[in-house]
Amino acid sequence: MSLIVQKFGGTSVGDLERIAKAATRVEHAVRDGHSVVVVVSAMSGETDKLVGYVRDIQPDLDPREYDAVVASGEQVTAGLMALTLQKMGIAARSWQGWQVPILTDESHGRARVREARPENLHACLDEGIVPVVTGFQGISESGRITTLGRGGSDLSAVVLAAALGAERCDIFTDVDGVFTCDPRIVAKAHKLDKITYEEMLEMASQGAKVLHTRSVATAMNHRVRLQVLSTFTGAPGTLVVDEDEIVEQQVVSGIAYSRDDAKITMIGLPDDPGIAASLFGPLAAAEINVDMIVQNISPDGETTDLTFTVAEGDLERALAVLEANNDVLQARRVEPDTRVVKLSVIGVGMRSHAGVAGTMFKALASKGINIQLISTSEIKISVLISEDYLELALRALHTAYDLDSAE
Ligand code: ADP
Ligand code: ASP
Ligand code: MG
Repeated sequence: MSLIVQKFGGTSVGDLERIAKAATRVEHAVRDGHSVVVVVSAMSGETDKLVGYVRDIQPDLDPREYDAVVASGEQVTAGLMALTLQKMGIAARSWQGWQVPILTDESHGRARVREARPENLHACLDEGIVPVVTGFQGISESGRITTLGRGGSDLSAVVLAAALGAERCDIFTDVDGVFTCDPRIVAKAHKLDKITYEEMLEMASQGAKVLHTRSVATAMNHRVRLQVLSTFTGAPGTLVVDEDEIVEQQVVSGIAYSRDDAKITMIGLPDDPGIAASLFGPLAAAEINVDMIVQNISPDGETTDLTFTVAEGDLERALAVLEANNDVLQARRVEPDTRVVKLSVIGVGMRSHAGVAGTMFKALASKGINIQLISTSEIKISVLISEDYLELALRALHTAYDLDSAE
């Protein structure tokens, strides 16, 4: 009998009616003869509410208590899902992260999974009982509840699928699968039947939150077959697969965007060896990730300007680090800008096709959209633009790469 993991996201368990709908997905799989392990998120909006409570008490918070509070949303839905399944005549019980256990490191709020020990779940399945596991949470070596980072229930599902040797990990959500672009912004986006792990990893890391980035990386490393599909429509979803499973590869498979970036421009830095190291060294030491970087040539041979991006949530800390190091850096001025968005076009076909960047720049130029920064990797081109043009730019790029659906 094959084993599948079914994960239901926040909207899919947003109220009792939706939980009942999600439970019918489990019921069908069980009646089809599968062993099923269910993973649930908190009800939509619940984790935000819990984070808000904690921040209201203590903005500079104790991360261990933050995790104790925000992990609780999943405990509620696991119990409610188990009860709903029982009512439908399916034996089920809830499991919390520490009960499985899912073991993590001590990085509260963004803990990394060290290991999932699935023996308890196997025993539960052997008794004919469907385990319903809380997503998003684990237990640290010191015995405290940890959370895996926002959106982390996808990761819980993939980790369990890998540990259990599941045939497939189904991520049930509120859209029909992975689309060429966020269907909530680009109405002409269409669902992809298949996408490669590599492309999905880029899409997720560049902002397409339909899958959590680390869940895709983990699925890729452990060869977990992932499917993204809708809880509500029953339509076939998107399979995340190896490149050789896709017969005809598009040059560009999808377009992602991120509103979470902030741009920092350092004006009038000395054009001396070692300045970049003195700038990015302290940022790295403060665990601030820098994404795009552009250094301009020095017009006078003495000073130069340097622009880079960080996560918007890290902006205040980054500015404090720059201020603290300005004795060495001697920037004339530091200009932060949060009114920016990053757009990324992604496709493994870029490896073998020229002109992909040119199409992007031409499409943006035709709409009068100024490009502030550009960065590229083997299968991705990203640009930073003003947030005012997000929707216009996404739609223009979607059309330019022939991704618009026929209807
Ligand atoms: P869940 O609560 O089920 O985990 P999420 O809100 O995390 O759901 O992810 C689903 C959402 O991801 C969709 O509602 C959609 O707006 C967004 N999204 C962004 N980019 C894409 C994309 N390329 N394809 C599908 N959905 C996308
Ligand atoms: N409930 C958590 C969050 O909102 C985890 C998840 O939904 O995946 O981030
Ligand atoms: Mg999600």
